[in-house]
Amino acid sequence: QPTVGVFALQGDVREHVHLLEGLGVRALAVRRPSELDHCDALVLPGGESTTMAKLARIFELDDPIRKRIADGMPTLGTCAGMILLADRIEDGASGQETFGGLDVTVRRNAFGRQVDSFEGDLAFDGLDEPVHAVFIRAPWVERVGDDVEVLARVADGEAAGRIVAVRQRHLLATSFHPEVNGDPRVHRLLVDLIPTS
Ligand code: GLN
Repeated sequence: QPTVGVFALQGDVREHVHLLEGLGVRALAVRRPSELDHCDALVLPGGESTTMAKLARIFELDDPIRKRIADGMPTLGTCAGMILLADRIEDGASGQETFGGLDVTVRRNAFGRQVDSFEGDLAFDGLDEPVHAVFIRAPWVERVGDDVEVLARVADGEAAGRIVAVRQRHLLATSFHPEVNGDPRVHRLLVDLIPTS
């Protein structure tokens, strides 16, 4: 039975743990490097990405996470977690650090000027039925590298066409919160990326 960690220094940990347990994997809240060592995959949840990055540094989880991501550990980043996975943030002055690994540029709080939070159904590449997506002060993906597949875009409204889900090999990221409705399909995509040994 594989173990999937959920970064737990800050963010919405519990919903992810519940969903993962429903998929028959062991879910482990990760607060220290020794816990990360037990993980076959990792979820970086929503929360506040600057705080999450700061706490990761204080608890010396940042370099271990970077290394595991670089070594191919399947990782799902949702919302703030997408920001933490991104190689670049479009946010000129801030100089915010990320774990990186995902060859994309994200814009934080990208929907903010229009509306803080909203939800809607999205067609999602690789899933038969649309995903009900909940966006909370969400980022979007401005640019993707050559290796990155776009899995979902906003369907309509002012932000129509904006990229909100991507995959690059072992890395998955969504702008929205796939955990809040109890729909396990995006988490199943993560679990399916764990090599069976
Ligand atoms: N706006 C947050 C950030 O920039 C992300 C919000 C979320 O994860 N729901 O980190």
